[in-house]
Amino acid sequence: MLEDTNLFFYRAADFLDLSDRVRDVLVTPRRVVRVEIITESDDGELLHHMGYRVQHNTARGPMKGGLRFHPSMNEDHAASLASLMTWKTAVVDIPFGGAKGGINCDPSQLSEAELNRITTTFVELIREIIGPTIDIPAPDVNTNAKVMGWIMDEYSKFYGFNPAVVTGKPVDLFGSLGREEATGRGVMYSLEEYLKNDGRKLRDVSVAIQGFGNVGSNAARLISEQGGRIVAVSDISGGIANDGGIDIPKLLDWVAQNKVVQGFPDADPIDGAAVLTYKADVLIPAAMENAITEANAAQVQTEVVVEAANGPVSPEAHDLMTSRGITIIPDILANAGGVTVSYFEWSQNIQQFSWELDRVNTELERVMRRAYSSVAKLSTESGLDLRTAAFVLAIKRVLSAATARRTVGHHLPASALL
Ligand code: NAD
Repeated sequence: MLEDTNLFFYRAADFLDLSDRVRDVLVTPRRVVRVEIITESDDGELLHHMGYRVQHNTARGPMKGGLRFHPSMNEDHAASLASLMTWKTAVVDIPFGGAKGGINCDPSQLSEAELNRITTTFVELIREIIGPTIDIPAPDVNTNAKVMGWIMDEYSKFYGFNPAVVTGKPVDLFGSLGREEATGRGVMYSLEEYLKNDGRKLRDVSVAIQGFGNVGSNAARLISEQGGRIVAVSDISGGIANDGGIDIPKLLDWVAQNKVVQGFPDADPIDGAAVLTYKADVLIPAAMENAITEANAAQVQTEVVVEAANGPVSPEAHDLMTSRGITIIPDILANAGGVTVSYFEWSQNIQQFSWELDRVNTELERVMRRAYSSVAKLSTESGLDLRTAAFVLAIKRVLSAATARRTVGHHLPASALL
């Protein structure tokens, strides 16, 4: 996975004609931490997990990135996602570097008390390398506001009241209004910007969405509220389709009760994987990485893919689809709404001042539309696809911050490397 992210990075580095030394500095994480998490199950059994935090780059500010609780979490995964965060925060031009981490656990197999013990033990083990001015975790796959609240509480036991150590917290515990839906909202703005090109609106398109968790369900709800027709949805349980448009508020109620989309009465059951190749105008992969690879890229039928998930399209699939004329709005642009509102939450915590929801959404909209238009402009001017253009923009910003600081983080003057 790290290889895939770096491949996209190297394409942009080629365009920018970066030296090998600069490339090495920019792909190498500043710090990689692995900890052993030993806890007890509710039955008194030994539980053994590994926790990771990879801190990739600090040139533009403290590092920022989610925590993922998933059996597949490992160092390579964390490193790849951490570097994506560096480029993502730079694309939307918010003052952070990139980090990512998580625990190789399966929360569906754990009680809430077990998950709490695992989370707080992890915080105890990494507390020295996180903090409001060092590295600020946030939610990702299988983590949510509740888990972020536990992290704040545990960290505060050691360092006193410190809500800015983590974002995506419950609104009642110094979270920000609008954070929960922010990634989905950013996905919607990205798609709107793309459609604007030829005067279309969300109500003019049909959409297939893979993943119905935080990002997928909020994107579905917000797009359908604007008249977009959601024709297919999948989650870990399988897929459902209805060409007339799935009633998203009803599906949300269904999932709130039944946990999964499977069995939803007002749509036809389809294979989960079939959602990715469903006939629609727009495909939004909002689940895990490598959803679209060489194996299914040729069957994708949409004109645009909006990468709500991180790394959902492999490099081979990216090339295959772009050569077929499919536009890909890359993850480091399309799903940056979450980290943007995380930035607002961090700012509110530091200022001890809460924003109204309107202000959060207005500022988010401004940031997302500005980022989209900068990337689209560079893409048009340089003939690069949107992904490479986004990387080029991000690398330039990181390098210019590193140069202005006169350090690239390894005690070498940036001027020696440029
Ligand atoms: P989540 O845990 O809330 O939801 C994940 C969803 O994906 C669930 O519906 C799950 O059933 C589904 N899923 C998992 N494996 C699947 C499979 N093989 N096929 C179909 N569906 C599958 O996670 P999330 O926070 O919504 O994150 C989803 C993606 O978005 C991840 O790639 C994450 O890194 C990325 N992302 C999340 C945020 C955020 O703010 N939460 C921000 C930026 C990017």
